[in-house]
Amino acid sequence: MADTNYLLEVLEKHIADVKSEATVSHIGRIAEVGDGIARIVGLREAKQSEILTCESAAGKPVNAVVLNLEEDTVGAMILGDYTSLNEGAVVKSTGRILEVPVGDALIGRVVNPLGEPLDGRGAIEPAAQYPIEKIAPGVITRKGVHQPLQTGVKAIDAIIPIGRGQRELIIGDRQTGKTAVAIDAIINQKKFWKTDKAVHCIYVAIGQKESKVARIVARLQEEGAMEYTTVVLAGASDPASLVFLAPFAGCAMGEYFMDKGKDVLVVYDDLSKHAVAYRQLSLLLRRPPGREAYPGDIFYLHSRLLERSAKLNADYGGGSLTALPVIETQAGDVSAYIPTNVISITDGQIYLETDLFYQGIRPALNVGLSVSRVGSAAQTKAMKKVAGKLRLDLAQYRELAAFAQFGSDLDEATQKQLKRGARLTELLKQNQYQPLGVEQQVAVLYAAVNGYLDEVPVEKIREFEAGFLSFLESSKSDLASAIRDTGELAAENEEALKKAIEEFLIR
Ligand code: ATP
Ligand code: MG
Repeated sequence: MADTNYLLEVLEKHIADVKSEATVSHIGRIAEVGDGIARIVGLREAKQSEILTCESAAGKPVNAVVLNLEEDTVGAMILGDYTSLNEGAVVKSTGRILEVPVGDALIGRVVNPLGEPLDGRGAIEPAAQYPIEKIAPGVITRKGVHQPLQTGVKAIDAIIPIGRGQRELIIGDRQTGKTAVAIDAIINQKKFWKTDKAVHCIYVAIGQKESKVARIVARLQEEGAMEYTTVVLAGASDPASLVFLAPFAGCAMGEYFMDKGKDVLVVYDDLSKHAVAYRQLSLLLRRPPGREAYPGDIFYLHSRLLERSAKLNADYGGGSLTALPVIETQAGDVSAYIPTNVISITDGQIYLETDLFYQGIRPALNVGLSVSRVGSAAQTKAMKKVAGKLRLDLAQYRELAAFAQFGSDLDEATQKQLKRGARLTELLKQNQYQPLGVEQQVAVLYAAVNGYLDEVPVEKIREFEAGFLSFLESSKSDLASAIRDTGELAAENEEALKKAIEEFLIR
């Protein structure tokens, strides 16, 4: 750390600069550098988020971004190797705000938060540069969320539907299947790619192990999902500055497609690690620590990120940006600082539980605590028909199951509800990487909520599901495509569905 004498010395050098240079306010010197942060004197006209170039001992200049504007100095985070920077080195401000490359060329690529390729597949020709921070679309430009964003996960599409333009939080302890839900949602968009319902996907991996992300990318490739997906990676070993930038960069890349009137899904996995990176930078910049040592503006940081998700109205192109932020809790504590913040910013949460996960209920969705504030406005009519009943049946089941443990002489109605609930719970289980189409979900859920499965033993439910789905595909494909294409369960189709279920069950 620099002492006062050293600062004076640097200032003297700076005064010499002032005498010799014409554009003096754009030139400063590093007074202090370390841990990815530099304090710079002499940059009187620096702006927030402006890019600075620092002279480095290694030869190639290193970029930095202004984060703190103080009375005599400027605090900046360094975007490259800070060990090659020395105190007293010359810093120039560029007048440019930090931007990332955006455009179609990023589809299918793995990039760092500066848009530089990490997949070794050559340079990227961007269509434009977008600022990393942007004011969120205003109310006048928006429209109510009303189109479904199908995740392909039964429990989510039926009970807590997500709409295009919504912000839905995925929250849970470590290893509860948070990433799995988000990745399934991305894979499911394969069904819509090259149709008018296509969704561009951006997966932002924040502070995760690189090996884990590599596996995710490989899987996306295998499933054909990289055809419409961009992965933004700031790994666990990257400097905090890159981790901090990652979600903003991912959002900017998504905004390009939204501005073109397209639909975008952005996954921020996860914002807990993002908050930690921001805390690290803030403490190094000597901002005052607040609750849990996070800086006071951590709420503002996440709210201005998530506020950029929107459904635009037709006058503004009609595009949308849906956000699925992920938060990791410690021992299920949703009342900690960062979880409560992000819960209050989003339009609902998918709450995953360790207990359920180990009971084999996967996805480990807590149906009671998970909500989507957009609700059935973002569901197809066909799904609405089965979902209302499903929600009610499950709620009653939860209530009854709690006290049914105490007595055995239950009346017939109660026993029936318990039976139904156990089957529904079984039916909502779903393997990873197997997202289902809306017609498949409607078909199996229809059978369950209308009592067709009450006499099927619980352990045979998943067998029924697999069998019935292949029966539907092979023998009743007209029915399946009718539900899929119209999104409705018209009277004659409902009859046909009933017949199909009966036909399948007596085989
Ligand atoms: P982390 O906290 O480490 O990021 P996470 O909450 O993102 O974990 P995942 O990595 O998605 O959890 O999943 C944890 C493990 O559970 C993985 O091995 C995954 O394959 C498995 N898993 C997730 N969902 C399912 C599922 N529906 N069925 C079976 N296995 C699953
Ligand atoms: Mg994860």
